Amino acid sequence: MLNIGCHLSSSKGYEHMGKEAVGINANTFQYFSRNPRGSKAKAMDIPDAQALVKLMKERSFAPLVAHAPYTLNACASDQGLREFARNAMKEDMANMEYLPGNYYNIHPGSHVGQGPEKGVELIADTLNQVLNPSQATILLLETMSGKGSEMGSTFEELRAIIDRLEVPEKVGVCMDSCHLYSAGYDIVNDLDGVLDKFDKIVGLERLKAMHLNDSMMPFDSRKDRHEIIGKGTIGLAAIENIINNPRLKHLPFILETPNELPGYAEEIKILREAYGS
Ligand code: FE
Ligand code: FE
Ligand code: ZN
Repeated sequence: MLNIGCHLSSSKGYEHMGKEAVGINANTFQYFSRNPRGSKAKAMDIPDAQALVKLMKERSFAPLVAHAPYTLNACASDQGLREFARNAMKEDMANMEYLPGNYYNIHPGSHVGQGPEKGVELIADTLNQVLNPSQATILLLETMSGKGSEMGSTFEELRAIIDRLEVPEKVGVCMDSCHLYSAGYDIVNDLDGVLDKFDKIVGLERLKAMHLNDSMMPFDSRKDRHEIIGKGTIGLAAIENIINNPRLKHLPFILETPNELPGYAEEIKILREAYGS
């Protein structure tokens, strides 16, 4: 079965998201771990989290993805901003213990002029303070488009971060189809070549989830604008190829397309029909 879902609003709680996912024929989903502006997280509602765990078990859900706010920058030049990011990530990972076996996805960060080497060093330092061997959650580094001084737009940068980690077994990667294409990885014409490269540099065993988005921007544009599936520069055929690729087809796929629930339901329907079991 295709594991697919979309980004949902967490404003009505965990179990509500689970029911919303069921309602659009999804068996996974993503939500923001806290307000996108990165302020204080709501107190963890433990009974609500347990209700979601139960629902996910009953409905055989694939792992879900909690997405950290975009504003957290693990490699900011300002120490206070780095500490803020680290503390928020620590708190989010602690909350994830109530949803064991799922994923916590972060944007690696932006080096803001310090250079990518410094970026790698600061991100790894932050993660080394966030991760510990007893956690029931894998933290995912998202592949980025490379806009501005964004880190993580090359597989080599992801590898360099992972190489500096004290508990690398707690880290995986979430590919984003829009970001890959914008970063110059040609998933339209050479998906297998891109996967070979990823396997050689990072290792396919690290790949845990995929954001499935079409793109408004051309190949290698280093711009990050998601488009509805089939309406962008990647196109439906390439996206159908992604979900059916033998090296990818088991992953949880998360739609982050510009849609409300009915649009997501439609995309899920199309992609389920295109999935060869
Ligand atoms: Fe993201
Ligand atoms: Fe994404
Ligand atoms: Zn994006």
